[in-house]
Parts: sequence; C-alpha cells; structure tokens
Amino acid sequence: MQQENTKTPYYKRERNTNDSVVEKRSIFLSVLIPLLNEEESLPELTNQIVTVLNENKILDYEIIFVDDGSKDGSFEVIRNLRKENNRIHCIRFRRNYGKSAALSVAFEQAKGKFVITMDADLQDDPKEIPALLAKIKEGYDLVSGWKKKRYDPISKTIPSKLFNAVTSMVSGVKLHDFNCGLKAYRRDVVKSLYVYGEMHRYLPALAFMDGYRVTEIPVTHHPRKYGHTKFGLSRFLYGFLDLLTVLVTAKYMKRPLHFFGLVGFILSFLGILVDGVLTAQWFMGNTNLSNRPLLWFGIAMIIVGVQFISLGLIAELIIKYNMVNNKNNNYSIIDRI
Ligand code: UDP
Ligand code: MG
Repeated sequence: MQQENTKTPYYKRERNTNDSVVEKRSIFLSVLIPLLNEEESLPELTNQIVTVLNENKILDYEIIFVDDGSKDGSFEVIRNLRKENNRIHCIRFRRNYGKSAALSVAFEQAKGKFVITMDADLQDDPKEIPALLAKIKEGYDLVSGWKKKRYDPISKTIPSKLFNAVTSMVSGVKLHDFNCGLKAYRRDVVKSLYVYGEMHRYLPALAFMDGYRVTEIPVTHHPRKYGHTKFGLSRFLYGFLDLLTVLVTAKYMKRPLHFFGLVGFILSFLGILVDGVLTAQWFMGNTNLSNRPLLWFGIAMIIVGVQFISLGLIAELIIKYNMVNNKNNNYSIIDRI
C-alpha cells in the first residue's frame, strides 16, 4: 500500500481537497514567481505584492520564487528578502530549464488553496491579485489575465494576436490572451496540470480541455523596467508545434489510434484510389503502368498510411501497458463522496 502511494505522481496524490494531508498543510494563498536574471526587479516586486496582500487582509500567504538558473545576483537578493519575511521562499535550479519547468516545480510546492502566478519583471501588476481572486470565487477554476493594453514591441504583439486566435479556435476556450504571466488558480488545477517543455503558454487551454472552468479579466500591463525579454522570435515556431502536442495529448491521449488511425486511413485510401484508377486503365489496355509516375505516389501513400496505423497501435500498447501497471486512470475527478 505504502509503495503504491509513492509511485503515484504528486499531481494525482494531492488532487483531492478532502485529503487530510492537504488540509493540514494548506494555507490561503500561494504566489508563484518564475524568474531568470531579474535581480533589479525583485525587491520592488516583493514590496508591491506584500503591500497589496496586507491591504486586502490576506495574511496567510507564501511567496515562492523559482530561480530558473539565474547568472546574476537574483538568488542573493531573494535570500536577503527572506531575512525580513519568512513567508518568502526560493527554489533555485542549478541551470536554466525554462519557464514551464519553473512553474511545474512551483505548482508542486504550492500549499495555497488559491494560487497566483506572475512574472518577476514588474510587467504584471500585483494590484490585480484581489480582482483575480474575486473572479475565482465567482466559481471559476482558472482566471487568466488579459493584457488588453499591452506594452510590448510590435514584433511581439502581432504574432501574439495570431497565436491567441489559433489557440482559441483549436482549444475551444474563448480567451484573448493565453500567455499572460498573471493568472489565478484553484489548488486542484495546479496539482493536476502537467507543465513541461514550453507548455506554460497553453495552461488555460489544457485546463479547459480537462473540464475546468476557465475565464479571463483585463489586467494592467507595464513596459519592462529592467533587463530584457528572455524569449526570442523562436517562441512562435515552437509555440505552434506545441499547440499540435496540446491537441493530440489532450484529445487523443487515451485513444491514440483514433488520431493516427484516421490519418492512416485517409492516406491509404487516397493511395488505393489512385492506384485503383491506374490499374483499371491498365486493364482496359489504355496505358502502360511503367510510365505512370502517379503509381509511385499511390504506393507511397499506402505505405505511409499503414505506418500511421501501426504507430497508433504501438501508442495504444504503451497506454494499455501503463494503465495496467500503474493502475493510472489519470482522469480529472471533480468530486468524491
Ligand atoms: N523566465 C524564466 N525562465 C526562462 C525565461 C523566462 O523563469 O527561461 C521568467 C522571466 O524571468 C519572467 C517570466 O519568465 O519572470 C517571463 O519572461 P519574460 O518577461 O522574458 O517574457 P515576456 O514578458 O517577454 O513574454
Ligand atoms: Mg516580461
């Protein structure tokens, strides 16, 4: 029994809010902040957060910084901040793993019943925290900030509009801004989302596809005050590739053959159709098959199609193997009585 428990991933183990372990450790609010080389902003940011929380009588909180392999003095700055306020914590990565990794570890550590995430560069405004929490309490599981008036260069804002439109269409959740650092969550969401690679851009989409109630509110956005952005233009290429992953894993995780099999059948069918027509023509004596390049196209389609179907079958085997061995159902459960 003991062994089985340690095998269960953390995000499943702590998902149930009725769990006594969770109750004991639970606090009201966790503020999670991933950062990379942001030493100049940190004292100001911390001061602003603590002021807002005090003003709103939110005293049962923790602030968890995740230093994602900074090469500047960020960690020392946080160590000094902690001397004055022991609700401040920091997890320091040995090297830079990326914002998703930082968030993933922060999600794992968070003890709050509610969770706020924000960037460390002062572009997100802590004054929005009460409004985000109020919206959550209306009955949402995830409230995303919407940088309605945005202070970023045009090279970023225009591709970002396209990115948001496509993500909204593909995922089915109608948001203007998926990738705002400022978000509020109920604890269940952060314990069940699995963030890796560069998936932090899709958290609202992933949560929505898992059945959580997701919405957004407009939030104030500021220009970057110190340092520079940590993401280049490559973000958009990777961003769209990741969208494909989101779609396939969220929708077809439990039934990969439906995805690969469908593509495989379409390709094979196309190949059989093309080669069928050519063969019929050959039978009727119209042409010679040896000088019909389309024949090879048809053959290639059939082979690729069969490969897709086989891939789907292999994926099914892997899923089944994992299901049987880990008894890992991995479905998002809203309640138990
Ligand atoms: N960040 C991080 N790891 C990285 C890149 C960025 O923790 O590999 C942090 C960064 O310090 C900031 C937040 O993620 O707190 C958002 O990054 P940035 O401001 O560079 O993104 P932008 O606002 O330009 O989209
Ligand atoms: Mg920024």
